[in-house]
Amino acid sequence: MEQKGITDQKVLAAIDKIERHLFIPDTALHSHAYENKAFPIGAGQTISHPYTVAFQSQLLEVQPGDKILEIGTGSGYQAAVLAELGADLYTIERQKALYDKTAPFMKALGYKQIKFYYGDGFKGKPAFAPYEKIVITAAAPEIPEALIKQLRIGGRLIIPLNNKEGKQDMLRLTKVDEQILQKEVFEQFAFVPMLRGEAGNKE
Ligand code: SAH
Repeated sequence: MEQKGITDQKVLAAIDKIERHLFIPDTALHSHAYENKAFPIGAGQTISHPYTVAFQSQLLEVQPGDKILEIGTGSGYQAAVLAELGADLYTIERQKALYDKTAPFMKALGYKQIKFYYGDGFKGKPAFAPYEKIVITAAAPEIPEALIKQLRIGGRLIIPLNNKEGKQDMLRLTKVDEQILQKEVFEQFAFVPMLRGEAGNKE
């Protein structure tokens, strides 16, 4: 990770501390859990590559107590990293099966301070806005307007945005004021798609 450009010591320490195999349901894959690979987590979704999680976490520059909204709870692995960094974390998942499984699993692991929600991340979670930071962990087709609204002035959105090559450009958008978004572009990644609406247990 350090060779690939992860320099934030707090991020590296969090990745080092968290046992990634616990977030992978298929025990046959546990011997590979510490490789830089994505693995199935059910409902057709995957746990992100650890490098991707580290990269997004580093871009967030988490300060202890930052109110952060994560879109795409999935396995909970990224949420665990953000909690270790001291985030006051709110996380949303649209797959009912994953929400039902991950929320109690994370509580049992000891992450009792994370707030879990089942719903459509395109809408964000206006009840608790504004957020210092928002991170999307699925491939976004566009910049969700509702999420920009829910950022405080000076706040940041980390978003993997679909590009013409069928991958995503990692962007960091800073809300300078209500009209101006400052954009920084980083490297390309490959995420599962960010989809609209909620998926019940049958999708
Ligand atoms: N952060 C997760 C990444 C899981 S993959 C982890 O560390 O494991 C991305 C997740 O985003 C999937 O679980 C997918 O169901 C979810 N997702 C996709 N579109 C969404 C949306 N509109 N709202 C909330 N979650 C969404």
